[in-house]
Amino acid sequence: MAHFDYLLVGAGLFNAVFAEHASRAGKTCLMIERRGHIAGNIYTEKRESIDVHVYGAHIFHTSDEEVWEYVNRFASFNGFINRVKAKFEGKVYSMPFNMYTFESLWGVHTAEEAKKIIDEQRACLAGKTPENLEEQAISLVGRDVYETLIKGYTEKQWGRLCTQLPAFIIRRLPLRFTYDDNYFNDKYQGIPVEGYTSMVEKMLNGTKVLLNTDYFDFIRSTNDTFTKTIYTGKADEFFGYRFGKLEYRSLRFETETLNIPDYQGNAVINYTEAKIPYTRIIEHKHFNFGKQPKTIITREYPAEYKEGMEAYYPVNDEKNSALAASYDAIKQECPNVIFGGRLGEYKYYDMDKVIASALQLCKQQGLR
Ligand code: FAD
Ligand code: UDP
Repeated sequence: MAHFDYLLVGAGLFNAVFAEHASRAGKTCLMIERRGHIAGNIYTEKRESIDVHVYGAHIFHTSDEEVWEYVNRFASFNGFINRVKAKFEGKVYSMPFNMYTFESLWGVHTAEEAKKIIDEQRACLAGKTPENLEEQAISLVGRDVYETLIKGYTEKQWGRLCTQLPAFIIRRLPLRFTYDDNYFNDKYQGIPVEGYTSMVEKMLNGTKVLLNTDYFDFIRSTNDTFTKTIYTGKADEFFGYRFGKLEYRSLRFETETLNIPDYQGNAVINYTEAKIPYTRIIEHKHFNFGKQPKTIITREYPAEYKEGMEAYYPVNDEKNSALAASYDAIKQECPNVIFGGRLGEYKYYDMDKVIASALQLCKQQGLR
């Protein structure tokens, strides 16, 4: 029987940041992870000398100086800039929405021409404040862009109509009236040269990790004691689904190794037609400017989340946000448990936001 200052449930990015701070501050931690590997959803694995993003494309981007300085202690970033393409009915468009996109759609060459068309197409909303994703999309980029690049992709991705989805999801994507086709607006961007797993490994140096260990089985059988638990699993599961189940979107990845040097000439190509069942194909070597003789591609299929699958995306619609708030309200029943990360907080967090949130917790715990 041993005593630890912290039990860390989940070996994803949130707890990796926390563990790194706790170890440096001389605290003892035990980390347990349900899956057979560390790094959670940012896990990368070398195959054919290519870093494979096993749980989908992960591009690090941030404007937060503190976060950028922090991750650079554990990884060198390669300067990759995400320039996404989207295919619709055989034609390739530039994403996010920029002058290349408007030129391919409408043959226009100036911002004024593009804005004029968008203004005409958004007139149907008569200045109304957008109440759902469809209205928000039309209000931002007009009906043609909505129908070509947004509607099919979004309804596949979320398994819901755009009229039933919150507007904020589409506001994640930049809209520019220039030829800048960078998918993100952030000051810093890149991919760790040695992969994300290596970055997380360095953060976990000195932390004891038990893989293939589920919290609920572990806590019933352990004699060890812990002052505090940092829990990055699902909050509804933690409370035995007392108010019902939160909904998530899941994904299915189909990965293939091809005996050719290049498949699609770009890291990410989205498929925005409703009738194509996957949302995107990623070609892993392009995230690292790879010149290997073979290539590895992954098709990403959205899926309804069921027990036993990975819960990738919280569904932040009205119903689920209200349910999540009910779970938030009872977290105080367990004062020694702190909920963090994408699942613990039920938030659609990017990596930099997860790190910022973990850094905040480290400050609250007196670890920085
Ligand atoms: P996780 O990585 O989910 O870690 C939580 C861990 O807890 C998991 O490993 C899980 O197995 C474990 N766990 C859960 N329950 C238990 C239990 N009961 N017992 C033991 N262990 C348990 N962000 C970006 O910044 N850029 C991107 O390009 C980007 N792309 C993304 C693409 C996809 C397809 C997805 C799904 C996410 C993407 N993200 C991206 C977001 C990024 O993955 C997350 O911000 C980050 O991984 C969240 O880290 P976390 O530690 O909160 O969660
Ligand atoms: N989206 C879209 N068409 C695209 C790409 C994205 O309509 O070609 C929408 C979709 O609703 C998606 C949202 O924009 O959920 C945010 O996209 P992002 O690439 O940020 O999603 P993530 O990488 O988190 O899956």
